[in-house]
Amino acid sequence: MRRLRRVKILATLGPSSSTPEMVEKLYRAGADVFRINMSHTSHDRMRELVQTIRDVEDEVARPIGILIDLQGPKLRVGRFAEGAAMLKTGQTFTLDSDETPGDETRVHLPHPEILEALEPGHALLLDDGKIRLVARSCTPQATVAEVVVGGRLSDRKGVSLPDTLIKTSAMTPKDHADLEAALATNSVDWIALSFVQRPEDITEAKDIIKGQAGVMTKIEKPQAMTRLTEIVELSDSVMVARGDLGVEMPLEKVPGLQKQMTRACRRAGKPVIIATQMLESMIAQPTPTRAEVSDVATAVFEGADAIMLSAESAAGAYPVEAVAMMNSIAMNVESDPYYRSIIDAQHAEPEATGADAISAAARQIAETLDLAAIICWTAYGTTARRAARERPKQPIIALTPSLETSRRLALAWGVHSVLTHDAHDLDDIVDRACDIAKDQGIADHGDRVIISAGVPLRVPGATNMLRIAYVDGDHVKRD
Ligand code: PGA
Ligand code: MN
Repeated sequence: MRRLRRVKILATLGPSSSTPEMVEKLYRAGADVFRINMSHTSHDRMRELVQTIRDVEDEVARPIGILIDLQGPKLRVGRFAEGAAMLKTGQTFTLDSDETPGDETRVHLPHPEILEALEPGHALLLDDGKIRLVARSCTPQATVAEVVVGGRLSDRKGVSLPDTLIKTSAMTPKDHADLEAALATNSVDWIALSFVQRPEDITEAKDIIKGQAGVMTKIEKPQAMTRLTEIVELSDSVMVARGDLGVEMPLEKVPGLQKQMTRACRRAGKPVIIATQMLESMIAQPTPTRAEVSDVATAVFEGADAIMLSAESAAGAYPVEAVAMMNSIAMNVESDPYYRSIIDAQHAEPEATGADAISAAARQIAETLDLAAIICWTAYGTTARRAARERPKQPIIALTPSLETSRRLALAWGVHSVLTHDAHDLDDIVDRACDIAKDQGIADHGDRVIISAGVPLRVPGATNMLRIAYVDGDHVKRD
């Protein structure tokens, strides 16, 4: 099964979408990568879902990506004696280290590191930003704050601190346990880190993951935006996590930030995923709003690698319809007459590396000669990702002997990966590339394709060769 779409679709699994039948339907409707959100999933359930996805993968005979999303340091207030309290605009309200249940004057904040870090003037956003406080006086035991926007605050509601750099790392004890369980399945392709604040948070996770999965950084805190370049550099991919970002930053800033992140990632050649509320109304309705369709289309026009569904596929009433709708919007955008000029306007110049020079040349040659496909022989996926960075018109086929690489590339723009056995030599690669391009319906008898590889084989990062070959031709002699 080959997709004709370049942008990839991520679908979050949840109560609406956990049976094997449903996962297969979502795949067939267009989902390329499945997300398991550890904020709402037990280890047993996670293992079951991973197995279910792998069974579907066998059934459809195409590599599927699995993303495990760690909850991260989501901060919460403690409990109230009455379960909730009314905070009135203009009153003072205290967050403190006292575990006694709260009332309308105070509540426990079970994070001593926050009380340490808060300073007068810092904003505190409670319950997804519905209630706003400003810190007035701060000690390590208590912060007395003024209620700027009041409301009803109930037990364990979330706290966002857009102005405060918190000393804790991006991974909590729960994240460590969840990560260990995920890696133990030996079958997850991507790990998402939530609420990353600084580059060191990524290094810390990478030291544990040790290349067993790609690291996806979720940008959902303003602190991360201030060090975006370093963060993109260290990450294997980036999620524009508009949900929490829109709580911590003014909502109207989010579209500009989305553009900034998408461009930074495209320049760096790192997959970038646009997430949250993309088709929100489809949680309850079979058709989206015009504004949602336009939002999905914008992400595709900008050249994002992937677009994501959250509650729409995890907990909504129309998960398959939501994936099918995303697929259809993407297909329409990609065949729109403006698509090429918009996506090319952000074309990134090659960096001074062999892989980039080869990828840029492959795109150029494929265009000049109107070739049927760009085929990358890739062990770790690097060449295929650099080819994707070019956003070429031709389909990109990643031929790889690595199952992990084929699955991880499910996230990359325009890459159709095919698992194959190890090659003996270059001629073997060329023959196989042509056969596979034909088998996959990408090239016909007599078409030409361009193939990139690194010689000697099996040396990572050594892409240094381009070859033009005729499908069904005598490739060896013709050169
Ligand atoms: P979440 O992350 O769905 O795990 O909160 C995405 C976001 O915040 O947009
Ligand atoms: Mn989030």
